[in-house]
Amino acid sequence: MAYEGSCHCGAVRFTVDGDMPTEAMSCNCSHCRRKGFLLTFVPADKFTLDSGADELSEYRFNTKRIAHKFCRVCGVQGYAEGTGPDGSEMRMVNLRSVPDCDLDSLTIRKVDGASR
Ligand SMILES: [Zn+2]
Repeated sequence: MAYEGSCHCGAVRFTVDGDMPTEAMSCNCSHCRRKGFLLTFVPADKFTLDSGADELSEYRFNTKRIAHKFCRVCGVQGYAEGTGPDGSEMRMVNLRSVPDCDLDSLTIRKVDGASR
């Protein structure tokens, strides 16, 4: 199975090759709390950017290792690019940008990013 995500204006679209997640990470760090992310992590080779590469802008902070990709037209951030603990390329998908995801049914895993 696969699921699709997009920004609000529709310029940026992506597909994840995998089942719809049943749980999501909610982090209280200074960045996540402001954007309200519900995140799932997928290997980069399971993620395809279908459109909108030219509309993407990115934001980096702190260690600058994560590229937070947002649409410069509507401002929505559908995903971020980074690396996992083992150095492999990862994509952090914002499930709020996945219309078919039933947000209310997700098991929320809280991460205390603010205290790190
Ligand atoms: Zn957009």
